[in-house]
Amino acid sequence: GRKFFVGGNWKCNGTTDEVKKIVSMLNEAEVPSEDDVDVVVSPPFVFLPIVKSLLRPDFSIAAQNCWVRKGGAFTGEVSAEMLVNLGIPWVILGHSERRLLLNESKEFVGDKVAYALSQGLKVIACVGETLEQRESGSTMAVVAAQTKAIADRVLNWSNIVLAYEPVWAIGTGKVATPAQAQEVHSELRKWLHENAGAEVAATTRIVYGGSVNGANCKELAAKPDVDGLLVGGASLKPEFIDIIKSST
Ligand code: 13P
Repeated sequence: GRKFFVGGNWKCNGTTDEVKKIVSMLNEAEVPSEDDVDVVVSPPFVFLPIVKSLLRPDFSIAAQNCWVRKGGAFTGEVSAEMLVNLGIPWVILGHSERRLLLNESKEFVGDKVAYALSQGLKVIACVGETLEQRESGSTMAVVAAQTKAIADRVLNWSNIVLAYEPVWAIGTGKVATPAQAQEVHSELRKWLHENAGAEVAATTRIVYGGSVNGANCKELAAKPDVDGLLVGGASLKPEFIDIIKSST
């Protein structure tokens, strides 16, 4: 089976003191073994070294972005090579906040995913539709096109976790129903089957993100095609521990 995956995307939050407190909370928690659940937290770039130095070894770390190609004269960017050099195994790419606020195109995100993988990073690749797109019935077309831009550039999916994050559910408190999440996840798996092969479809983890919290996580996690959860706001709070346990 696909190992359950729980990501905590801290976004642009935290001070050094707050980060230390969150890490202490995580380090003290009793959670299922790393054989049963992958836990990956994603602090802002500037806190990666301190989190790396303090975090328990059975939890892993993701950056929230990286540059699309080899580093160099790209002021303000952080390269995949730097993350590897720091010992950061994962990176989140294609988050809707970057697609929408920073105009990252699906092709640019696809290029980033391919480059990050080529440097040995594991990638949490995010896709998702806006409310307007959902209401116009184009949810599947949108997430398929975003996934295709990755599939066009990547053959080996073994280091990718696909995150379905409907934009209308992110930070809004309006979580997708378990049925809505299951429907898109199962369509995405079918898309992978047809376009990337049976093996990729069967093994790639598809995780849900958007207003996940301690109260709604279990029902989402129980759905057969929901292989994990990508958590924003609640990943900064004690309820993140309940979310880590939601599959058991
Ligand atoms: P919230 O859990 O705060 O809605 O954020 C979800 C998200 O964007 C995770 O990447």
